[in-house]
Amino acid sequence: MVSPKLPWPAHPQPLPDEVFSSWIVRAAMCNGQKLRSFLTMTAPTMRSVSKSIDTHVSDHSLKQIAFKMKTDYATAYQTTMQSYQGYLFEKESDKSYRKQCVLSLGETRNDLNYQQYCPLCLNEKNPYYRKRWRISFITVCEVHHCKLLDNCYSCRAPVKVIGNDQRKKSRVYAGSFTACHCCASPLENAPVALASPVVINDTKKYINILTAGFAQLCPERWIYSFSFFAVLRHMMRLTLEKTIPTGLLKIHDVDALPIDLRYYALTKLPKVFSNWPGNLLKISENMGISFSDFSPLTKTTSTFPYWLDEAVRPKLYNPNIEPTQESIHNAIKIMLSKGMKINITTVNLFMGYRDSEKIKTLVKKWRKNNYV
Ligand SMILES: [Zn+2]
Ligand SMILES: [Zn+2]
Repeated sequence: MVSPKLPWPAHPQPLPDEVFSSWIVRAAMCNGQKLRSFLTMTAPTMRSVSKSIDTHVSDHSLKQIAFKMKTDYATAYQTTMQSYQGYLFEKESDKSYRKQCVLSLGETRNDLNYQQYCPLCLNEKNPYYRKRWRISFITVCEVHHCKLLDNCYSCRAPVKVIGNDQRKKSRVYAGSFTACHCCASPLENAPVALASPVVINDTKKYINILTAGFAQLCPERWIYSFSFFAVLRHMMRLTLEKTIPTGLLKIHDVDALPIDLRYYALTKLPKVFSNWPGNLLKISENMGISFSDFSPLTKTTSTFPYWLDEAVRPKLYNPNIEPTQESIHNAIKIMLSKGMKINITTVNLFMGYRDSEKIKTLVKKWRKNNYV
């Protein structure tokens, strides 16, 4: 009988960058328990044991788990996806558990891939799943220089860290921790594909920025990492939209895309933030990205990133291409949030146009509807 007042007899500690589900499944297995009973005896108030387990750990439950696992609270907290708040995303949306740059979070569909892995990391002595393998712009292993995978190489099922435990209702899972929950193939045996050196180097920089919480684009200019990653994520989206023929791909959300597309987008964005803003401007010009393409960014960030605005707006516009209706609406929204006056001249200026017919029509309509 396990005493509720005492730590578990076996208490493996979280390994570097280990994600909560990986740690807690290892802990339950070490103590010969099913995950559900292990959690009931560890943190009775913990809600459902589902694929979202890494996101919904309350402070109270986490404190109980930390105590029973002889782990300090800060270390336990670092295993959860909440710990990315203020680093990877600004804050989690109130409407859903969706978090910017985290793969397929808040999605209820079962066929979406959300946990990536490196076969060579899983082949090491103490295999475990990394938290950063849940990030949409992490597509390579910076240690083994290979591409990550986001599903079982054999049956294509999504990787579900808690899946093996749930295979048999009442029996404790006794197989390998790294086996596919669907077909039992050892994920460490997945074929290894070398990654592009540029993507590896860029990924290393992104990991450093994520760890630091800020990015430095040029001397004496620091920006929050979540603002930086919002732009990287948007650049991935624009890259796919501009380089894949229209109609072949409908992108609702970069964070729900399979790894091949996300990796492809990153290969088209080599050193995009180096030589700031030179490389970004060159890449944008080559792909036909104009300033108005950046305005949908306001959907994911509370304000348009000022550091991008000042670097991009003066240089990225093409007076021959009219802006889209959506981008004009977005521009008006941003201007209003900044307390700016809305008229034909100011919107043209803000969007980097001289005298756009479309802006003229839309601003007139807007002013009429808003009784200005
Ligand atoms: Zn690896
Ligand atoms: Zn499988």
